Amino acid sequence: MDIKTVGIVGAGPMGKGIAHVFALAGFRVSLYDIAREVLDAAPGLISESLDSGVKLGAITEEDKAQALASITLVDALKDIGPHDLIIEAATERESVKAAIFEDLTPHLNTNTILTSNTSSISITRLASRSDRPERFMGVHFMKPVPAMQLVELIRGIATDEETFDIIKDVIDKIGKTHSASEDFPAFIVNRILMPMINEAVYAVYEGVGSVKDIDKSLRMGANHPMGPLQLADFVGLDICLANMNSMHDGLADNKYRPCPLLVKYVEAGWLGRKTGRGFYDYTGDVPVPTR
Ligand code: NAD
Repeated sequence: MDIKTVGIVGAGPMGKGIAHVFALAGFRVSLYDIAREVLDAAPGLISESLDSGVKLGAITEEDKAQALASITLVDALKDIGPHDLIIEAATERESVKAAIFEDLTPHLNTNTILTSNTSSISITRLASRSDRPERFMGVHFMKPVPAMQLVELIRGIATDEETFDIIKDVIDKIGKTHSASEDFPAFIVNRILMPMINEAVYAVYEGVGSVKDIDKSLRMGANHPMGPLQLADFVGLDICLANMNSMHDGLADNKYRPCPLLVKYVEAGWLGRKTGRGFYDYTGDVPVPTR
């Protein structure tokens, strides 16, 4: 099966980034978001992100124009149904994602392949909400999608080999590299990364160090490009908490319990960069630690 058309559900940072890379690679892309203002803002933000590629000399103005012309905004979820490949990149909440797959099911083409970009929710459980668990799998992009090389591919228990191979080829065509993960909570990258971020929040909570010292320690002492709290703000504290909850619930091991301070920040709506405040305040010219 030759994938030519891609429908993306959710135009948050991930959905926009996924639209960017598929459009640039020559696929025809349809993008949908339940929030009209998010959808309307998407082409402008994708255009800005393509501009960075032009400035770096990685793509030409013509590539940018062709990519933007390949993206269509759609008004209704049902219009995403008839695509060769669907990538769900909506809010990290199982009830939201399950409803999307159920609502899409009557509108799919016979051969449509369904995928989710979830960071931590069971692919097998999401697949069971569709009519085609064998043509369903996890395709986990990293943020920011245009810059990050890896895509984790996750087989649900019913995913067939043909589906896995088709998606592997698609990931090659967009110039990314895949790793294969089994369907356990948070897969490979976040299974290892999120407990480290959670531990950094515990270190703040217990007063082991300040936000600034914890980030500096990991940047300069372990050669990490970003400190764990900077990274948490970049990923989104709600996404980090959802990941910890998935591991805590799914693996029933206390070592994954989310730090109460992380819970409190999310309850306060301090979700990191996207809301202007998390472990840093982003309202000024330079981020200022909040603790
Ligand atoms: P986000 O919460 O910023 O954006 C999600 C978007 O989905 C919002 O614009 C929202 O309006 C939309 N949405 C919600 N319900 C919808 C529905 N029923 N139909 C259509 N759109 C709907 O999230 P994000 O950071 O863009 O992440 C999206 C997905 O990608 C999540 O599953 C997340 O776990 C995963 N992911 C995130 C990261 C990251 O670093 N942020 C990395 C890899 C994967």
